[in-house]
Amino acid sequence: MLRIGIGYDLHRLKRGRRFLLAGIEIPFSKGEDGHSDGDVLAHAVCDAILGASALGDIGELFPPNDPAWKDFDSMKLLRKTFELVKNAGWKIVNLDCVVICEKPKVLPFRDRIREALANVLEIPFENVFLKGKTAEGMGSIGKGKAIEVFVNCLLEKVK
Ligand code: MG
Repeated sequence: MLRIGIGYDLHRLKRGRRFLLAGIEIPFSKGEDGHSDGDVLAHAVCDAILGASALGDIGELFPPNDPAWKDFDSMKLLRKTFELVKNAGWKIVNLDCVVICEKPKVLPFRDRIREALANVLEIPFENVFLKGKTAEGMGSIGKGKAIEVFVNCLLEKVK
């Protein structure tokens, strides 16, 4: 059995925060605001694989008002989420991610990000892809006030 999932997340960008995508830090004047470390891509990947496996969503599993997740490493949240999905008998087939922000450029960091996700999700590097887009100066993302991510994934039931 195959199942498709979608994950989405948006975070405000703020000075004094680290700009993180799947745990890879990109040097920039601002970073994602949030209760955890704000890693918008890690959050969207959690929701994509949870959605495909129908095991819940990130807000249910790791409530943002819970002090346990304050400043928490979101790649650890992704590891915990992946363990749940894996234990329910699912294997990740592939991920396709779109990161939308005006700045910084994501492309120079793309392969490191793909590698980080592939490692956690126990799939080959070539089964993870990522595109960086801008919002052409439009709206809050185009003004550099926020970052948005979409993730599609395919899961296969293996047990
Ligand atoms: Mg989030």
